[in-house]
Amino acid sequence: MSKVSGMSIISVESVLEPQDALDIVSKTRQEFNTGVTRSYEFRAKQLKNLERFLRENEQEIADALYLDFRKPPHETYTLEVDVILGSVKNTLKHLKEWMCPEKPSKGLINILDQVRIYSDPLGVVLVIGAWNYPIYLTLGPLIGAIAGGNCCIIKPSEIARHTAQLLYNKLPQYLDKSCFLVFLGGIPETTDLLNQRFDYVFFTGSPQVGRIVYCAAANNLTPCTLELGGKCPTYIDETADIRTATRRILWGKLVNCGQTCVAPDYVLCNKLVEEKFIHHANILLKEFYGDDIKESKDFARIIGSKYFHRLTNLIRNAKVAIGGETNAENLYISPTILIDVKPEDEVMKEEIFGPILPILTINDPEEAIKFINQRDKPLAMYIFTMKRLVQDLFLNGTSCGGVCVNDTLVHLAVENLPFGGVGNSGMGSYHGKNSFDTFVHKKSVLFKNVSVLGEKSQEARYPPYQKFKTTLIRFALQNLTRPVDFSATLPFLMFIFGIFVTIMYYQLNFNY
Ligand code: NAD
Repeated sequence: MSKVSGMSIISVESVLEPQDALDIVSKTRQEFNTGVTRSYEFRAKQLKNLERFLRENEQEIADALYLDFRKPPHETYTLEVDVILGSVKNTLKHLKEWMCPEKPSKGLINILDQVRIYSDPLGVVLVIGAWNYPIYLTLGPLIGAIAGGNCCIIKPSEIARHTAQLLYNKLPQYLDKSCFLVFLGGIPETTDLLNQRFDYVFFTGSPQVGRIVYCAAANNLTPCTLELGGKCPTYIDETADIRTATRRILWGKLVNCGQTCVAPDYVLCNKLVEEKFIHHANILLKEFYGDDIKESKDFARIIGSKYFHRLTNLIRNAKVAIGGETNAENLYISPTILIDVKPEDEVMKEEIFGPILPILTINDPEEAIKFINQRDKPLAMYIFTMKRLVQDLFLNGTSCGGVCVNDTLVHLAVENLPFGGVGNSGMGSYHGKNSFDTFVHKKSVLFKNVSVLGEKSQEARYPPYQKFKTTLIRFALQNLTRPVDFSATLPFLMFIFGIFVTIMYYQLNFNY
């Protein structure tokens, strides 16, 4: 380990052993088939080891992310390490309960039987991560994969290469090496991997690559979660506390240098609100980063020059109200607010994914809702208003992955809220129990009663069919298959009466 500017830096091996996708997947499948991942003890041990990996390597993780795009350690600890630690803890706390077969309520027709839902491990799953939160986006889904009793191949993004390398070097020292593997590579290697048969693919990345992954998975009929991106709208009206709103929006936009899938992408508000927003933004940016933002240690950089040039093109001909400063050498773009933006402007055509915030003028919530509904369904939406009526207008009048009212981003930290997109922003969700449920198959099991009474109660379904039997079974199917509640007392008594009549009928027939 070498030292640079007082920080310990992980060594980066430029040449890796070539990894054979077919070989890796088939060996991992053999391991899964031994059943080793199924027990509670194994899963809990791996989760505890994952926790140990994070605790023992948090400094190295922060160093790697600093090297990747100068991510401030505060952001690494809070938004990468701690959220995952919290999630591991929550999973360990509930794992036994989640693993237990569920006992759904049953209808009277099954009153003598046992009805269960088993959470079956899926097998060998693939987790493909994006570069912008390279720890959170790989280890987050991994928690669900381990909890679900699966083997997992983790493919971090090659773009955040220091962090990918750290995962490759260190994770096998903590997790079972035969069941959990880190696979490094870019497009060709990921394509190789996607040509293999997995039991589940969990992908985080752009909608463009999401389509490629979905097609590849379809070839093997492999189910997928696609955690994608898009443009997340933010609405502010005059009833909001504009200073607080501006502070929360700027934080959500500028954390990770705007390279966050749920960052507020653009603002919709009227001219009066816009003026106040710009006024507060000028003051708040100084509070956040001091007089010279370039010198602030709390503001990250753009991940690479290709990304930097795409972003600088977006502001080239725009009307800049704040910021607009760029430096290609440092991959620096200052927090930039654009005004008088038109829907057809370049900046409104694709997800921005950088520290640029366009403001579009709208006059009322209805106009904002119409604007949002004319575009792809976003991953997140932010509504800043104190009017419940307006909040409801957005909640009931738009479709998106998730909503945070009067704040940005922090809905992701609520472990029991499913996180995922809809339409172009993705499919499936995770976090908390949703992660566990994502990585298991809900297997239905019916244990039928075989007692004399149990068999007698089934007489009506066996040939020879008779009118009486048909009436009885049709009544049972129409009325007694629904879950029992107190209002079902009458059908229950009728059901018992039905059984009694059936028994009597066969008893009498038998005696003759
Ligand atoms: P990306 O789609 O370019 O890459 C994601 C992963 O796919 C990487 O591991 C990469 O190696 C792999 N990949 C890239 N091209 C591929 C190809 N042609 N074939 C097979 N694999 C390929 O995304 P990114 O640049 O890493 O991340 C940014 C995007 O991810 C943004 O759109 C952002 O909104 C989205 N994102 C979504 C979430 C979420 O939770 N919904 C989180 C973070 C980022």
